[in-house]
Amino acid sequence: MELWYTEKQTENVGITCKTEKTLHVEQTEFQSMAVIDTMQFGRMLVLDGMVQTTIEDEFVYHEMITHVPLNTHPNPQNVLVIGGGDGGAIREVVKHPSVKKAVLVEIDRRVVEISREFFPEISCGLGNPKVSVIYDDGIKHVADHKDFYDIIIVDSTEPVGPAVELFSSSFYKSISESLREDGLFVAQTESPFFNSDLISGCYRKISEVFPITKLYLASIPTYPSGLWSFTMGSKKYDPEAVDVLAVPDYPTRYYTPKLHKGSFVLPKFVEGLIKP
Ligand code: SAM
Repeated sequence: MELWYTEKQTENVGITCKTEKTLHVEQTEFQSMAVIDTMQFGRMLVLDGMVQTTIEDEFVYHEMITHVPLNTHPNPQNVLVIGGGDGGAIREVVKHPSVKKAVLVEIDRRVVEISREFFPEISCGLGNPKVSVIYDDGIKHVADHKDFYDIIIVDSTEPVGPAVELFSSSFYKSISESLREDGLFVAQTESPFFNSDLISGCYRKISEVFPITKLYLASIPTYPSGLWSFTMGSKKYDPEAVDVLAVPDYPTRYYTPKLHKGSFVLPKFVEGLIKP
């Protein structure tokens, strides 16, 4: 018998994957969680019915949410990842030799435990000696650490449940206070096709706090519409001014220094979303 998993991405659109096996289902304190083996994308982590990561396409998201900000800052030493309990962003952060301390603040301990068990390829960086894993609300952690981080990466779920406040003006202000005087941050900001209001809102709120605000894109097949956005707020460094010839050749599959620049070149309709 064929079994298929569907994520209803909007009221009218879904992504459907043929499955081999459902490996795990549970209700955590914060969300429902499932691990499924799919035929096309390999193992898949699902939270509250939304695909978080898959073995086949996780590299795009994790490389683009990390190497773009880390290669924009000339000397990132203290890096914070908020959310990101699968460990993929941390795996990429620790590839940078300048990083002395990488902190993961994940609200849901079970996401980390399940990722360690079922996604060793993604969670492998969590065991790196530079990494500390803290189980807490990212909002509280940021408020408690002023003038501390060089880079903050908001690798959150969609704006539902505990992630709602991660898309608010007050959180962006708090992030700015948690960053050092030349710090920068990046957040995943959803799909330009399906979440245009969210993108416009986040961009406006971030640009009210940060002098340099830039949006960039990547192509991620299992995320709604396949086109995904990230928004960076920076106090000093412009991600488009990076000298691509000076960027070392990290072991990546999607990110390249040329693509770093190219990802900020936006389709006209996306430019329209972030016009003042
Ligand atoms: N790449 C993913 C995506 O865009 O679908 C996000 C992956 S990661 C699994 C998202 C994590 O954010 C979840 O594990 C969730 O528990 C965590 N999270 C949500 N709200 C949070 C908060 N306020 N503080 C810390 N972690 C949070």
